Amino acid sequence: MPYDVNVNLPDPQNGRHVYRQHARDWLHANLPNQMRANHLDYRTPTLAECSEWELAMYKAGLAGMTWPKPYGGHGLGMREHLAVNKEIGALLMPESVSSIGKELAGPIIMAVGNEQQKNKFLPAILGMENYWCQGFSEPDAGSDLARLRTRAVQDGQSWRINGQKIWTSGAAKAHYCLLLTRTGTVADAHRGMLMFAVPMNTPGIRVVPIRSIDNKQSFAEVFFDNVVVPDEARLGEPDQGWASAVRVLSIERATNRMYRPWRFESELRYLVQACKSDATLSLQLQDAHYQRLIAEVLGQIDNLKGLVERTVDAVMAGQEIGSGGSLTKLYWSECHQAFAALALKMTASVSPSSSPMAQRARQFFTAAYLFSRAETIYAGTTEVQLDVIAQRILKLPKDLT
Ligand SMILES: Cc1cc2nc3c(=O)[nH]c(=O)nc-3n(C[C@H](O)[C@H](O)[C@H](O)COP(=O)(O)OP(=O)(O)OC[C@H]3O[C@@H](n4cnc5c(N)ncnc54)[C@H](O)[C@@H]3O)c2cc1C
Repeated sequence: MPYDVNVNLPDPQNGRHVYRQHARDWLHANLPNQMRANHLDYRTPTLAECSEWELAMYKAGLAGMTWPKPYGGHGLGMREHLAVNKEIGALLMPESVSSIGKELAGPIIMAVGNEQQKNKFLPAILGMENYWCQGFSEPDAGSDLARLRTRAVQDGQSWRINGQKIWTSGAAKAHYCLLLTRTGTVADAHRGMLMFAVPMNTPGIRVVPIRSIDNKQSFAEVFFDNVVVPDEARLGEPDQGWASAVRVLSIERATNRMYRPWRFESELRYLVQACKSDATLSLQLQDAHYQRLIAEVLGQIDNLKGLVERTVDAVMAGQEIGSGGSLTKLYWSECHQAFAALALKMTASVSPSSSPMAQRARQFFTAAYLFSRAETIYAGTTEVQLDVIAQRILKLPKDLT
């Protein structure tokens, strides 16, 4: 284990509130003002600054809560994880630059990886030594992931990979790709899929960044041209790939970035503060129309908190998240998209003569609105979540859906 994380963490036996208080005290004392998006000293942090911040959080016991101690974790439960997430959401800090590693790659490596892979990858993820990307979607396989074509062919003790991925978030900075491939043909559908941990510096990998609506290049096309990886890069057995992918997707939809409703609430508080700080914007807070819309958002945030708490209870009771993840995904994406649209509208009249807080809020909510357009697409589109809910949760007949 590369880091001494045996800092004086509170004993969870003393109650989750003690752990939550530890998280609150530490975050309030240590988060620099220039990383608080609602602070006037805010400036966009660099990747190195974000990484340093996340490493400090880990060393303070605020990351890797549920991971076993032998792999660098703190060996605690989902309730401590949730307690910390509530405090993370309470401050408008930078989003994790390593959430694919910590919340998607890490858990699946823990579930299907061998001992050597767990020892190699897990402490390095928590120690911010490497970043991961998720190579699932392809040009003809998004919602219908089972149509993916990227092929892996065994060649003695190694595998030869050919194909293309698209919309791969963080590919340009990633050290490893959690790559989903097929060993057979497209007609095999869910069978014959294989997952790999592919080092992104392997010869034959080409990353072509894609510019998104918010003018960032946060995702990319990734081409695999005769990429050869050793058998040790294989995560799980050749027929296990689909089951692993489904597991990753259910984590992505339900338990990844669990802080969301608490963060949305902080954003809403920020919107109201920014409006109050400005003579023109504050008039909107007296308007019954906006009052009703704000109340609706608050209600949705409360519902979302309930869904998150229920998911944690289910996981603690040993239940699979399964299709229930679709309900949470649908809810957080639609709730935040509607809220971001409202915030953009309420800050529309901001001008250079508006209060500094209102001007900063306008920048923040413009970025939030643009990114929210993608929230109902990534991790599975709204239409697909509705299908899953109709068929697997409500058990409606297929011809009605
Ligand atoms: C910001 C962002 C980041 C992403 N990051 C990653 C990443 O890191 N790794 C990764 O692998 N992928 C990533 N994706 C890709 C994402 O998972 C896909 O875009 C998504 O699954 C949809 O697939 P698609 O784009 O191929 O659209 P399609 O599947 O072609 O869908 C097109 C439209 O048809 C609708 N549709 C499709 N099937 C049905 C159906 N059965 N019933 C009703 N309507 C349907 C969809 O809802 C959508 O409106 C990212 C996407 C975005 C926007």
